[in-house]
Amino acid sequence: MAKKYTYFFGKGRAEGRAEQKNLLGGKGANLHEMTALKIPVPPGFTISTDTCIEYFKQGRRFPRGLWSEVETQVAKLERAMGKRFGDPKDPLLVSVRSGARISMPGMMDTVLNLGLNDKTVQGLIQRSQNPRFAYDSYRRLLQMFGDVVLGIKKIAFEGLLSDMKRQKKVTADTDLTADDLMNLVEQFKEVVRREAGRDFPQDPQEQLRMAIGAVFESWHNKRAIEYRRIYKVPDDWGTAVNIQAMVFGNLGDDSGTGVAFTRDPSMGERRIYGEFLQNAQGEDVVAGIRTPRPIADLKEAWPRVYREFERICRTLERHYRDMMDIEFTIENGTLYMLQCRVGKRTAHAAIKIAVDMAKERLIDRKVAVLRVEPWQLEQLLHPRIDPTLKVRKIAKGLAASPGAAVGKAVFTAEEAVEAAEQHEKVILVRPETSPEDIAGMVAAQGILTARGGLTSHAAVVARGMGKACVAGCTDIVVNDEDGYFQVANLTIRRGDSITIDGTTGDVIIGAVELTQPEELTGEFGSLIGWADSFRKIGVRTNADTPTDARVTRKFGAEGIGLCRTEHMFFEGDRIVAVREMILAENADERRKALAKLLPIQKQDFKAIFELMNGLPVIIRTLDPPLHEFLPRKDEEIRKVAENMGVSEDALKDKVRYLQEFNPMLGHRGCRLGISHPEITEMQARAIFEAACELKREGKRPFPEIMIPLVSDVKELRAQREIVERVGREVMKEYGVKVRYLVGTMIELPRAALVADQIAEAADFFSFGTNDLTQTTFGLSRDDAGRFLPLYLEKGILKTDPFAALDEEGVGALMRIGIEKGRRAKPQLEIGICGEHGGEPSSVELCHRLGLDYVSCSPYRVPIAKLAAAHAVLKGKVKIKEMGEK
Ligand code: ADP
Ligand code: MG
Ligand code: MG
Repeated sequence: MAKKYTYFFGKGRAEGRAEQKNLLGGKGANLHEMTALKIPVPPGFTISTDTCIEYFKQGRRFPRGLWSEVETQVAKLERAMGKRFGDPKDPLLVSVRSGARISMPGMMDTVLNLGLNDKTVQGLIQRSQNPRFAYDSYRRLLQMFGDVVLGIKKIAFEGLLSDMKRQKKVTADTDLTADDLMNLVEQFKEVVRREAGRDFPQDPQEQLRMAIGAVFESWHNKRAIEYRRIYKVPDDWGTAVNIQAMVFGNLGDDSGTGVAFTRDPSMGERRIYGEFLQNAQGEDVVAGIRTPRPIADLKEAWPRVYREFERICRTLERHYRDMMDIEFTIENGTLYMLQCRVGKRTAHAAIKIAVDMAKERLIDRKVAVLRVEPWQLEQLLHPRIDPTLKVRKIAKGLAASPGAAVGKAVFTAEEAVEAAEQHEKVILVRPETSPEDIAGMVAAQGILTARGGLTSHAAVVARGMGKACVAGCTDIVVNDEDGYFQVANLTIRRGDSITIDGTTGDVIIGAVELTQPEELTGEFGSLIGWADSFRKIGVRTNADTPTDARVTRKFGAEGIGLCRTEHMFFEGDRIVAVREMILAENADERRKALAKLLPIQKQDFKAIFELMNGLPVIIRTLDPPLHEFLPRKDEEIRKVAENMGVSEDALKDKVRYLQEFNPMLGHRGCRLGISHPEITEMQARAIFEAACELKREGKRPFPEIMIPLVSDVKELRAQREIVERVGREVMKEYGVKVRYLVGTMIELPRAALVADQIAEAADFFSFGTNDLTQTTFGLSRDDAGRFLPLYLEKGILKTDPFAALDEEGVGALMRIGIEKGRRAKPQLEIGICGEHGGEPSSVELCHRLGLDYVSCSPYRVPIAKLAAAHAVLKGKVKIKEMGEK
């Protein structure tokens, strides 16, 4: 059978379905689906994505047979509409629309009103009795065709339109008369002649052929390529082309066009959300040429249309079982749907909608859990402005994407990218954004625009990225060329600090200190509760302080997977005692210094054990290279020397002696406890005394003592002996028994390879994946910044191995460690405490590896829990994912 290129939809029948996004593109597939649902959609046909790929394979030529298929489909469309393409009396007009598998906002371009020319425009006047409308449509065609197909700069047309408005002393395009527009048509034709070196094609067939080619071509335009690079979309998907009969929102005041969401995409409330414009066409709403009206006004203006609109929204939600994003047009009081897709939403809305829909029984709880992407939660756990804080608000715009952001004002995407490379935090301030600004938006902390509504480019993209955005802030005047914006008589220049609040729309002068107030209550609590019921792997936290432990409990983690004792050493005056300990000449002196640290550590442990009552707390003995604690400045050295009663010079010599060439591979980890057993002794004593005291008070402390950087079982045995001896002594002194474990980190390749031997002396393993990644790659994380970005850019590495676990290498070592460890000791408890423990793909890997738990930073607990549930549910739960994402 010959290859089929095109698929028809119209009059309640469609050749395609929503599931065929790969073939028909997202937009096309949903047009077919809506048609089949008997929703009013203007008829048309879709040229498949394969055809686009074929076009490029053939050296940018239409594949054989495509054009004759298009002619057949046009004939079918003519019959459906009762009009003929190119008919000078009553012309059929069409739009030519692109649409890839996934929506790429603003990436591909659409041409409307195709089929108009000097003759058919007369027919349109005759039929509509509305010359203004006819010329408005014609000038739009010239404009879009000129831009998209002929590559003429938009400004060439827009400039003339502005001139005309100025000349006629009007502000809105709708105030231009038929004569004005006719005049513009002539001017636009002249622009085409001048800029493209040819006349605007009068033959509708030629218009169509050229427009289809241009949509194919747009798959490889700069914006599209840039978007695909950022969002990792394959280049070989291609775009579909939709050719669809026009409906007209620009026929007068009983016509209009708009965009809507079936629920609030910002807060998730169950109400239709959107904007519309009277007497307008196509992208007028999004482009912000006039200020659109909220959808609620539609209810008053056209109650009958609104009721039908509501009915369609309900139908769509029930069918797609998700919140939908819709484009519609009203032609002389009749409603048409032009697009639908699954709506993008903030994390907050994603959670509320998922939980609400589960309660409404549109979806079940498993689907609800899968509907929220773990990384999206990052947004909720993002900083906010404390409402009680006194701040200086200078302007208010639309609350377009929630969360607050602080940074220095920059005015172009390039500046934002440059600043990010310097690790500067910036807010990108633009009159409005366009796809060219994407890289800058990625680099910025937040986005502030002067123009555009809640559905503007800035708002939609920022919500997708989970970045704070204040859009349409008409209070401010942005001069992006000279790098400043003005509000009233205030000028904010490039580099000045500002704060924006995407939840309220406030723009604030200066850098406001932000807080993290997100609580596990309401819908968020329900969703994480459901995730808890599905997940298999435990979630603990890396918590060094009682404050961290409090957050750990609040987010419902099941213990502490890593408590790093050295962080406690840096606080206040403690460091002096630590330095005395390090610089001591002999074990006795060292004991003296350690004796000062003992009560402090004990206090910390006690507070943490008490908060974690009954839950395991893994405490790691001292780990970092000693040199990190060495005094550097003269006054620091003086202070320590005074305390120790030694000369400054002698101490300086000692400091010099302790310097290392490769501290990360030097005197650190259990090597410290081997060379200075008194340190391990003191730490064990602090742990056991804290535990015993609590035990006596009737509490349930559960310490797990972890020895770091072990590469041989003998190291662990030596340290374990000390811990157990001190444990026995302390428990005897207190006359109570506490349950405890002694285990080790697996963070060196050798440890993973001899895990069976190590397991003999260990009650538990915890993979320290930060060091394991460093030592597996032979790559220091602190120095990787110089070349890692290049590796990512060149594709040598797919992802940063310090962010997401490297399954092939580090994961293989983990597999060996787990297998050997469990073989030697089946009941061995195994977890991970690297920063990977809070990264969704790493959590999934840990689940597959059969770990008992992951441990992550306290604020990432909800992310880890959700990722753990996804690891169980993904692939097992069939969700009909019909909507375009
Ligand atoms: P995008 O992918 O950028 O949203 P679309 O193909 O959806 O581009 O079209 C751009 C605008 O033109 C949208 O507002 C859409 O609703 C409108 N439009 C497209 N086709 C038609 C049509 N046949 N009749 C009326 N309006 C249309
Ligand atoms: Mg567009
Ligand atoms: Mg669209």
